[in-house]
Amino acid sequence: MTKTGVFYHEVLSQYTWSIIGQKLKNFPQLIKELSSNPNLVIYQIEPVTEELLLRIHTREHLSHIRHDINWECGIYGAGACVMAAEKVWKGEIRNAFLALSCCHHAHHDYAWGGCTVSGTGPMIAYMREQFGVRRFAIVDTDSHHGDGARELTIGDKDVLHVCFCSTDRVEDDETKIAVNVGWRTTDSEYLDKVRREFIPRAQEFKPDIIFHVLGHDTAQGDYGDRGLSWDFFAQLVEDVKECADRVCDGRYLVGLGGGSKYEIADYITPKIIEILTKF
Ligand SMILES: [Zn+2]
Ligand SMILES: [Zn+2]
Repeated sequence: MTKTGVFYHEVLSQYTWSIIGQKLKNFPQLIKELSSNPNLVIYQIEPVTEELLLRIHTREHLSHIRHDINWECGIYGAGACVMAAEKVWKGEIRNAFLALSCCHHAHHDYAWGGCTVSGTGPMIAYMREQFGVRRFAIVDTDSHHGDGARELTIGDKDVLHVCFCSTDRVEDDETKIAVNVGWRTTDSEYLDKVRREFIPRAQEFKPDIIFHVLGHDTAQGDYGDRGLSWDFFAQLVEDVKECADRVCDGRYLVGLGGGSKYEIADYITPKIIEILTKF
């Protein structure tokens, strides 16, 4: 199937969330514009179910975090992960863009940094139970370490987690990797690191699905600025997509992560989607 799914819900644009602010405020218009593109299927996100969340988080964490200002943002982001994985696996779409991806700072029993509940955790649990899909590669290019997603997958050697952040680390039989990209970097230096540290590992690992936490907080002018240009993000997606096309029949989910500037979200989203729809 040669279509790209776009996963969105209006609720994501209706509030000012903590940390990411109103970065999706222009998405209602953007989604409307995208809806005429014959290569796209627009899906309205259904929030993740309580039942799935309980596979990943403690009841105590959920009863406490449900009062957090970002609760809804988290359950819709996680819902997008679950829905997109299922639709890609069933072949309804080839790849997917998620207006929000995983809360990568969500742990088993706590969360921080604007995060509430995990997205990749429920997605992996659901895909294994429903479809027997075992192997996942998660690439995290947010500016900050994906400590929650890491904690939830450590010891699970069917999950490759490669996180581009501020330390170099290899653990869990080389299935859990951290790569220091430096506080100031350039587009080409960063892409080189992705080509060296993620692409060959993914090729070797042979995941069933590649999931990408794409924070744009690393962009010039955003709160985790590492010096990357706004055009960097589409290039990055092009590289990872090309890898997914080779290693897992194109099954690639990419979702926005951290970053609070709506100007950046507005700029990079159509460019990323254009790359995804090059079949
Ligand atoms: Zn971040
Ligand atoms: Zn990291």
